[in-house]
Amino acid sequence: MAITIGLQGVSRRYGSVTALHELDLEIKAGEFFTLLGSSGSGKSTTLKIIGGFEQPSTGSVFFDGQDVTRTPANRRPCNTVFQNLALFPHMTVAENVGYGLRVQGEAKPRRIERVNDALSLVNLDGYGDRGIAMLSGGQQQRVALARALVMEPGILLLDEPLTGLDEGLRQQMRDEFGRLHEKTGATFVLVTHNQDEALTLSDRMAIMHDGKIEQVGAPEDILNTPNNEFVARFVGLESILVPESIKADGKNFAVSIAGQTYAVPRGGLERTPQKVAIRSDRVRFSETATGVSATISYRHFRGRHHEVGLRLADGAEITAEIPTESMPDGLGIGDEVKVDLQAGAIILMKN
Ligand code: ADP
Ligand code: MG
Repeated sequence: MAITIGLQGVSRRYGSVTALHELDLEIKAGEFFTLLGSSGSGKSTTLKIIGGFEQPSTGSVFFDGQDVTRTPANRRPCNTVFQNLALFPHMTVAENVGYGLRVQGEAKPRRIERVNDALSLVNLDGYGDRGIAMLSGGQQQRVALARALVMEPGILLLDEPLTGLDEGLRQQMRDEFGRLHEKTGATFVLVTHNQDEALTLSDRMAIMHDGKIEQVGAPEDILNTPNNEFVARFVGLESILVPESIKADGKNFAVSIAGQTYAVPRGGLERTPQKVAIRSDRVRFSETATGVSATISYRHFRGRHHEVGLRLADGAEITAEIPTESMPDGLGIGDEVKVDLQAGAIILMKN
């Protein structure tokens, strides 16, 4: 049932605003794919073009290789959960979930069965007779999901479905998406501005910025080799610096930072990068007198860790996340320390 989605040269203009610039994208059948980007980057426009709610200004959309660019939304094998849910407030839960089946002409006994199955899928057994207004935000979210899933779509489109839920519910619904994806086998396309959501759920993701795709890949590939500084920052790699030198050295690059040289595996990188990012969770205070000399510029308690600002001997600023239990007592702003960049701390960027 899962369907491959292809976008070729898809652009979208609204008057003088170009929301999308000639996008090329291939989403595999059955993949959990995420469009990650900040507000206004073109995520919803892309989703609407896939769903058939918007027409591209140029380019084509393909499902399993078939051109569906001119196919209307209601004839596409997609269902969408919109950000505002768009539930019918005057209908019961079961009427909401069964609406599409009724429009399709599904006979009542079978309809009831399918509605109950869908409610069961989202853990809302027995909620069919409730009114929508009586439900919590998380339950309404589940009804919207059930309403989309009951149609057994080959493609499920989710536009910021967790925005507006509190943190506990977000976690719970996040797990639910993973489970539903496995269970239905459909191609899921999720739109979000939340990097944790994207990193934990996606098989692959696209980072969007100003109507363009900056990078497509599996979360670990993007984390390990961001294409550029924008992508690095977007996936939470905030410490970016230009090393004193980077030299190709067999399978490694020899990266010199503030007088210390580190061997960093090349990965797939052919060209010598200019900048690197430092993973703050791989920076530690040195147990010995070796390591990079640094001065503490700030420290903030963050619960399980301390966030510590470090000014390196060469002037670069990086951030370290030090587990609270290993944070030395009495270290303060202006103190001189030695820090180790542990294995995996240095992330090479393509550009
Ligand atoms: P995102 O979902 O990533 O926040 P959108 O795809 O909604 O971004 O919007 C991308 C750009 O297109 C934004 O600059 C937005 O203002 C513009 N845009 C989206 N829809 C319309 C519209 N119907 N009319 C005019 N501009 C629009
Ligand atoms: Mg949007």
